Amino acid sequence: MLPTSKDQLLFTPGPLTTSLAVKQAMLHDAGSWHWTFNERVSAIRQRLLGIAGVRKEDGWEAVLLQGSGTFGVESVFATCVPRDGKVVVLSNGAYGERMILMLQALRIDHAILRTQEDVPSDPAALDALLAADPAITHVAAVHCETTTGILNDITALGAVARKHNRRYIVDAMSSFAAYAIDFNAAGIDFLISSANKCLEGVPGFSFVIGKRAQFLVPEGTARSLSLDLGSQLKGFEKNAQFRYTPPTHSLLAFEQALNEYDAEGGVAGRAARYQANHAALVAGMRKLGLEPYLPPAVQSHIITSFRFPAHPNFTFDAFYRRVSEKGFILYPGKISQADTFRIGNIGRIFPADMRQVVYAIGEALDEMGIHLTPKA
Ligand SMILES: *Cc1c(COP(=O)(O)O)cnc(C)c1O
Repeated sequence: MLPTSKDQLLFTPGPLTTSLAVKQAMLHDAGSWHWTFNERVSAIRQRLLGIAGVRKEDGWEAVLLQGSGTFGVESVFATCVPRDGKVVVLSNGAYGERMILMLQALRIDHAILRTQEDVPSDPAALDALLAADPAITHVAAVHCETTTGILNDITALGAVARKHNRRYIVDAMSSFAAYAIDFNAAGIDFLISSANKCLEGVPGFSFVIGKRAQFLVPEGTARSLSLDLGSQLKGFEKNAQFRYTPPTHSLLAFEQALNEYDAEGGVAGRAARYQANHAALVAGMRKLGLEPYLPPAVQSHIITSFRFPAHPNFTFDAFYRRVSEKGFILYPGKISQADTFRIGNIGRIFPADMRQVVYAIGEALDEMGIHLTPKA
């Protein structure tokens, strides 16, 4: 394939399209043992607390961990759930299901509360389960379930966890920094996100925000060496370093991504752009006769699922290929149980890009001989 001057735009929920300046920030070698680099890592940890709206003086820490978001979620289970602990997972999509796989792999006792993929996790069901099962020590929920783009009410779920005095773990991978999250109101003990979602960095690390005292678990509690958040935190406190080789270039890129986040006006600015992206997308798709899968009341501005068109010529693979040949990368493959495909609204993309992708989708459908009637 010939190199092109321009990358295709990614309409995926991470990795996602990043700015040129974020990519350029990686054109340096950074000595991971050098104090200038370590000062920058410390500053990143501090800035994440600022974005979360919590303070070091109140005991909060942001622990960075090598690897993708999954490693971050697994590290919380592997470190912070005691040997005799039990976790209830609220699941309505692939990422809730992945938590269950982690608990199985780590041999942690667990319960599951499932709702359908288009139904938010249910605080009343959680209330009843916690009342009935005193063995449960931890509640784990997903904020934006990126499988469909559904938003779960983490504040209502957290209120139930707090009422029953259980610890509360929130996978806010695809929502942190694009939705205002009130840690105190939601009673969050551990929040996990990563570099390559709404903060618009490149992949390389995840981070967990929680209280220092809760990371520093008793000796022999952690079920993993490399995923031990307490040891990772102690490493940062000892010499400001990652315990093992850090993702240096990803950290340099992240610093620039944080600058761009601030310049955009933080969570308010970023949320406004993503909302505008989502609105432009849905309006354009509706005109083509493609309808969103979720009801608006539970739909996030992170990613939007659309029902497959009911037309005999439609296959997702052929459709995906045609759209990608036009320069737009949709989310390849279907992870939802429903017949849907997904388009991400996050990353360094703008409403004009959403209109472009809609245009390309219209052309692709046209070429496939698919003509739909928009709903009135
Ligand atoms: C992206 C994502 C993850 C982690 O996925 P990785 O591929 O490991 O980065 C976990 N939960 C949610 C909700 C996500 O969107």
